[in-house]
Amino acid sequence: AAFLTFGIYFFYFVRHPSFEAIVFGLENLLFVYAFSLYRRRGFSKFRLEAEHCQKALTEFQKLKEKHQSRLESLHHLEKQVAGLLNLFEIARDFNDCLSFEALARILYERVMPQLPFRRFRLIVLDKNISPPQVQKIYSVASGGFEELIPPDMPSGSERDLVEDVLQTKRMFQEGEILLFPLIVDREIDVVLFIEGTQVDDLTKFEVLAAYMTLQVRKIRLYETVKELAIRDGLTGVFVRRHFLERFEEELKRSTKYNLSLAVLMLDIDHFKRYNDAYGHLAGDATLKQAASVLKENLRKVDIVGRYGGEEFAIVIPETHRSEAVEVAERIRSSLARHNFKVYNDHTRVTVSIGIALFPEHLQNSLSLGPEVSETVNQLIQMADKALYQAKEEGRNRVVLFTDL
Ligand code: GH3
Ligand code: MG
Ligand code: MG
Repeated sequence: AAFLTFGIYFFYFVRHPSFEAIVFGLENLLFVYAFSLYRRRGFSKFRLEAEHCQKALTEFQKLKEKHQSRLESLHHLEKQVAGLLNLFEIARDFNDCLSFEALARILYERVMPQLPFRRFRLIVLDKNISPPQVQKIYSVASGGFEELIPPDMPSGSERDLVEDVLQTKRMFQEGEILLFPLIVDREIDVVLFIEGTQVDDLTKFEVLAAYMTLQVRKIRLYETVKELAIRDGLTGVFVRRHFLERFEEELKRSTKYNLSLAVLMLDIDHFKRYNDAYGHLAGDATLKQAASVLKENLRKVDIVGRYGGEEFAIVIPETHRSEAVEVAERIRSSLARHNFKVYNDHTRVTVSIGIALFPEHLQNSLSLGPEVSETVNQLIQMADKALYQAKEEGRNRVVLFTDL
């Protein structure tokens, strides 16, 4: 614009050279210069403002992104908190579990819908055996929960994972697999083997494992108390009350499946004399050893109870006459041959055994009436009568009820 104005002025000056024209030209030049100065400044101001705007826009964009990510993490936190609250609720349900089976049920009914997994195994160990052995395994999956029988240790690479956790006593995580050792009194009680988990849920599973550790401690305590209540302190066999309960259960089962069973009443011969000769403490030690000899000669399914002072009652399920007599005879001869350690001495005792058979000796009442305990009493009385007969006949012998 300056050049153009100057060009027009020059053309005018050549045509009409005068002093006014020079003044006019200079004025014009000044004006153009001032105008261009103003324009230049105005542009840069505009550019500056545009830059400011751009900056503010990016700041705003950044803030918006920050806000978005805050919102997202808030949502995530909300979800986490809700999950933890659910876990808290579940933990309250755990409080009512007094067995591993109940624990498996809660895992299936309450945990799985909140904290998804494909399979959750509770590998319960028996710490009393060294090295610890698998005692029971419960498996929880979408189809339900069950106790795995026999409780075989997982095989292959799964076994390696469990062994690793047993050795290191630390949790293990790889992809969707999680293993937690639940440690009670510095020993591993249970290993949790969880498959098909979501990576996000790791913290929640950690919280769950912590809750479960507390619960396992409770279950173990409850088991001990229960054991103390049902087992005789001296001999370790069932106390009379529990023996009778188990006997009733077994009798119901035998009736239902049409099975026979045998009841043995066993009494140590001349135990009063024995006590007099060696003292009551020696008598106690002998009773304890006699109970172990008994157990050695019986199967796990047989039920042994301390019925009186030196009197034991035994139920042998799924047994006919000849087997029952055989078992009784084996017990009698084992005890008679056994060297009982008393202080530095070895002593001997003999026992008399009476046997009653179900249903053989109860032909008139094959189907159980409503009072199972009545039948139990009847059978015990029969075995007791046979025992009395054995004593009468000279002790250290087995007598069958029918032989009377
Ligand atoms: P038998 O049965 O052969 O007829 O003679 P016994 O002397 O064993 O008979 P009895 O039933 O009259 O006596 C049982 C004795 O067993 C009485 C008691 O001194 C003893 N006894 C009972 N319970 C215990 C116990 O817990 N510890 C000890 N040391 N002795 C006991
Ligand atoms: Mg006796
Ligand atoms: Mg007696």
